[in-house]
Amino acid sequence: MKIILGNSHPQSLFAQRIEALSRQKLFACYQCGKCSSGCPMAESMDLLPNRVIREAQLNNEPALMSCRAVWFCSSCFACAVRCPKGIDIARIMEAVRTLQMMDGKSITEKPSCEDNGTLPQIALISHFRKFNM
Ligand code: SF4
Ligand code: SF4
Repeated sequence: MKIILGNSHPQSLFAQRIEALSRQKLFACYQCGKCSSGCPMAESMDLLPNRVIREAQLNNEPALMSCRAVWFCSSCFACAVRCPKGIDIARIMEAVRTLQMMDGKSITEKPSCEDNGTLPQIALISHFRKFNM
C-alpha cells in the first residue's frame, strides 16, 4: 500500500486542521521518539506522543478522535524541549482535544483518586483545568 505523507495532499484535511489549530508543522516530525521517552504521563497514555503525531500525519481521524492520551497530557512541555525539530507537541495535544470537544466528545477518562499519589503535581493542576470546562 502506498502511503503519502504531506499536508498538501487533498486527503490530509484532518492533518491540516490540526496544523491550523496548533500552528505546528506536523510533517517536520521524523519519529525519533524523544518526546515520548521524556513524557511523565506516558504510562497513562493509550497513544504515546510521537504516535499521536504519526496518526495525525497519516490523517487517521478515527484513531485520534477516540484517543484518551490527549486528555492525560499535562502541558508540561518536557516533550517540546526535547524535540530536535522544535515541535511543540503540547499544542498538538491541545488541538486534538479541541477537535474532540468540537465533535461533541467530552472527557473520556478522568484520573482516579488512586492516581493522586503517583501523578506529577503538574498533571493534577492540568486535569483540574480540563475537567472543570
Ligand atoms: S521528539 Fe519531535 S521529531 Fe522526535 S518524535 Fe517527537 S515530535 Fe517527532
Ligand atoms: S506536554 Fe504532554 S505530551 Fe508533552 S511531555 Fe508533557 S505530558 Fe507528555
